[in-house]
Amino acid sequence: MAGEPQPDCLFCKIVSGEIPATIVRETETTVAFRDINPQAPTHVLVIPRVHHPDAAALAAAEPAIAADILREAGQVAADEKIVDTGYRVVFNTGAGAGQTVFHAHAHVLGGRGLQWPPG
Ligand code: 5GP
Repeated sequence: MAGEPQPDCLFCKIVSGEIPATIVRETETTVAFRDINPQAPTHVLVIPRVHHPDAAALAAAEPAIAADILREAGQVAADEKIVDTGYRVVFNTGAGAGQTVFHAHAHVLGGRGLQWPPG
């Protein structure tokens, strides 16, 4: 069923605690933790506790939780003190865009200059 934990999903296992992660924030609906392979001094992933394959699917099924992800991304940026220097919130969607984990997640990146357009 949509939203149910998936047995082979890495991020569902982080939500359940089966796989450890460096968690920086948690709410009733979201978990934020440091990326294992950081691409910037701050690189935090914000995920919904419920399983949806990508951000668009999450927003279609549970728009309030999609809004929670955006709010938490902003809170992470504030906690990490990267608001003044600027930061980026990224939803890689589809393998062609670099998505490798098919549980919706926002990357929060900052703490260094970020180029545009991205690679
Ligand atoms: P995607 O490529 O799907 O947009 O992002 C998935 C992210 O998950 C990658 O940046 C990758 O480094 C991160 N990642 C993959 N496995 C783990 C893990 O076991 N723990 C943590 N904390 N991050 C992970």
